[in-house]
Amino acid sequence: MTEIFKGNFTQQEPIPEDGIAAALEVMRSGRLHRYNLAPDEPGETALLEREFAAYTGATYALAVASGGYALATALRAVGVRPDDRVLTNAFTLAPVPGAIASVGAVPVFVGVTQELTIDLNDLQGKADLADILMLSHMRGHLCDMERLMRICDDAGITVIEDCAHTMGAAWKGRASGRWGKVGCYSTQTYKHMNSGEGGLLITDEDEIAARATILSGSYMLYGRNGTVPPEDVFERVKYETPNVSGRMDHLRAAILRPQLARLDAQCAAWNDRYKVVEDGLRGTLGLTVVERPEEETYVGSSIQFLLLDWGDSAIDEVIARCLKRGVELKWFGGAEPVGFTSRYDSWRYAPSEAMPESDRILRGILDMRLPLTFSLEDCALIARIIRAEVGAVYQAAQG
Ligand SMILES: *Cc1c(COP(=O)(O)O)cnc(C)c1O
Repeated sequence: MTEIFKGNFTQQEPIPEDGIAAALEVMRSGRLHRYNLAPDEPGETALLEREFAAYTGATYALAVASGGYALATALRAVGVRPDDRVLTNAFTLAPVPGAIASVGAVPVFVGVTQELTIDLNDLQGKADLADILMLSHMRGHLCDMERLMRICDDAGITVIEDCAHTMGAAWKGRASGRWGKVGCYSTQTYKHMNSGEGGLLITDEDEIAARATILSGSYMLYGRNGTVPPEDVFERVKYETPNVSGRMDHLRAAILRPQLARLDAQCAAWNDRYKVVEDGLRGTLGLTVVERPEEETYVGSSIQFLLLDWGDSAIDEVIARCLKRGVELKWFGGAEPVGFTSRYDSWRYAPSEAMPESDRILRGILDMRLPLTFSLEDCALIARIIRAEVGAVYQAAQG
C-alpha cells in the first residue's frame, strides 16, 4: 500500500481563545490605533512591547507593521544612507535584500555553508566592503555567533539580526537578536507568532530606539510607547528623524500577547516534530541531513535537507513524486524563482559575483514547513514518504 499524507502544509493553529477575546475587546472599544488610548490606559501595543522586551531581555522593543519594515527601520535607525553597501546572506528571503534596497543601499552577498549559515570565511574576506551586516538567520540556522561578532567587531561592522525564523532561538544560551545592535522579528502568519502581518524590533541602544520609534510613526506621542528611551535622547533626534509610518495596531497586539505567553511551549512542540522528521530522514542514501550544532537552541518550524550534486531533473522528480503523495517540498535552489525566492542571483537589482561553492549548496536545498497542526504521526509519515521517494529516484539514477 502506498501511504499518502493528507495534511495541509499551510494550515496554522487557530488564534488562542484569550487572544480572540482580547481582540473582540479592542474592536468593541473602537480604539484600534495604538495612540488612541483612554487616560492611563497603556494599550495592547505598548503592553506587547513591554512583554517582548522582557522576553528577550532587551531594554527596548518596538512593535511595527511587518518584519520587513522592522529591517528597513533598523537600517535607517543605525544611519545607513543611500548608496551605502550592506553585507547580507546569499541565502535568505526576498524581504531582506528588499529592506536594504528600500533605503537606497546596496546589498553585498555573503556565501552560505553546508550548515545553511553565513560563510564566516567569506564574511571575513568581505569585511572591509561595508559598515553594516544584516545577518539573516535563514530558516532558523544560527552560525557561530561568537566568531561572527569577533569578525564584525574587529572590522567595525554594526550587526542587525533578521530573526524572522529564530524567535525563541539562541546561540550558547544567548537569544538570537541579542548579539547584534538590533534584532528584527516578524509576526506574519508563517513565523512563530501569528498576527497576519506584524513585526518587532529590539535594541539596548537609546538612540537607535528613539530613532526607530519616531521612524515608526509615533509623532510626538512616543511617551506612550511600551519602552521609552530618555527624553533628552528624543530631543536630539525628533526633529531630524522622518516619520516613515509603519505602526502596529492594538488588534494585532491583542492577539500576539497570549501567543507570546505560549511561545516557549510552541517552540518545544515544533522541535518534537522536527526531531521526528530528522530521525526519519537520517541515513537516506543521497540525502544530506543539516546537522545542528550543540551550541544552537533552534526552533524547528521548518526543516531543510540537501540533495547535494543532484541534477535538476532528478530533484524535480523527487518534488513531483513527494507532491503526488501529499508532501510539499520547496526547492529554494531552483533556477527560476517559484513562490518564494531565496537565492541571491534572483535579485537582479543587486548584482553579485558568482559564488560557486554557495551555488552548489543552494542548488541542493529542499525545504518543508512543519506547522503545529501536524501530529508526530504525521511527521513520521512525511519522513517515510520523502525517504522512499528520494531513495527511488537516487537508485534509478545510480542505474
Ligand atoms: C518573513 C521573513 C521576513 C519578513 O517578514 P515580513 O513580516 O513578511 O515582512 C524577513 N526575513 C525572513 C528570513 C523571513 O522569512
